Amino acid sequence: MMQVRSLILKMKVSGFLAVLALLAFQPAAGQGVPKLPCADADKACALRATKRHAVGKIAAWQAALSVPAGERIGPASPQLVEYINLDNILNGYPERPRAATLDAGLLADVKGAIADLPPEIWNLFSERLVGLYFVEGLGGTGYTDYVFDSSSKPVAAFVVFDAAILARQSANGWATWKENTPFKSAAGYKLDARIAADNADNRKNAIQYILLHELGHVLSVGADIHPPWNISPRDVVRGAKYPFFELSWTIDRKADQYRSLFDATFPQRANTVYYFGAKLSAADMVPAYVRLGNTNFPSLYAATRPGDDFAESFASYVHVVLMRRPWQITISRDGEVGYVFQACWGEVRCAKKQKILEQLLKRAS
Ligand SMILES: [Zn+2]
Repeated sequence: MMQVRSLILKMKVSGFLAVLALLAFQPAAGQGVPKLPCADADKACALRATKRHAVGKIAAWQAALSVPAGERIGPASPQLVEYINLDNILNGYPERPRAATLDAGLLADVKGAIADLPPEIWNLFSERLVGLYFVEGLGGTGYTDYVFDSSSKPVAAFVVFDAAILARQSANGWATWKENTPFKSAAGYKLDARIAADNADNRKNAIQYILLHELGHVLSVGADIHPPWNISPRDVVRGAKYPFFELSWTIDRKADQYRSLFDATFPQRANTVYYFGAKLSAADMVPAYVRLGNTNFPSLYAATRPGDDFAESFASYVHVVLMRRPWQITISRDGEVGYVFQACWGEVRCAKKQKILEQLLKRAS
């Protein structure tokens, strides 16, 4: 997710406090929800407050940027917690997040997930990622948002995770839960997602995949991959070039929406809604995935919006191609497999996207 929530911690670990001392803000002292400068339903106030908030300005993150990208992790600062609460007011989310305490086991899994990634990847994030921060009660698994320079151009991003949700996951359990959310459940229908081998089906690998997706959002910052997510489709600069976006998307300025180039033959796409209320029926599982196989989207979630198209593509590419991990959706009816959908890397349908990803990653090595 980006301005969308996908899955938090508490801080008593000594090595962790050493990192915190380097961060831009003071560590959270209390665990309560901060006193907010805006009332619960005052979206206009929340819009003003988020726009001028220090968390959205690169100057506030200089200390965080002075440590290696893969080490910028910790509980959300009081300022960041305030910002996320204001952002929830702005978006109408009922949750009021608070700073998380990182338990030692969860912190070890987060660090292990980071340590297992191809190390060169972090070269892509040295200037773009101000850090990975943890709250509880986010209203989603993870969330990435822009940090702007003095001319209001997005130049970096922070990633926030819900520690309580991360704490509960195993890799295939999390992926199966997520990939079922667009479909109403019905007797006899089953959709299984597999992103880890049986002997690696653990929390660390769930966190790693969730992290890769959010890193995909961070990588798009300032890279002309897709229009910025903080503007409406109708406000995208005319004539701006976004090579990755143009492989799958077009802008319907009149309707103020992004449309995929495949909508005429992929009617389920417009009704694909993750997390918040399924719109598709269980009987749509096979037709939706068959149609998806005729597009250049690497996953069904990628087909929901341009930002998640790139984030899913990045996560899937690193996971499947660079790390040689499994990625498969299996749809069954009454115990019989009806359709299997696999990652598209190496297939013609995703070749142009793969080329862009290869070029981006080449810069990392
Ligand atoms: Zn996303």
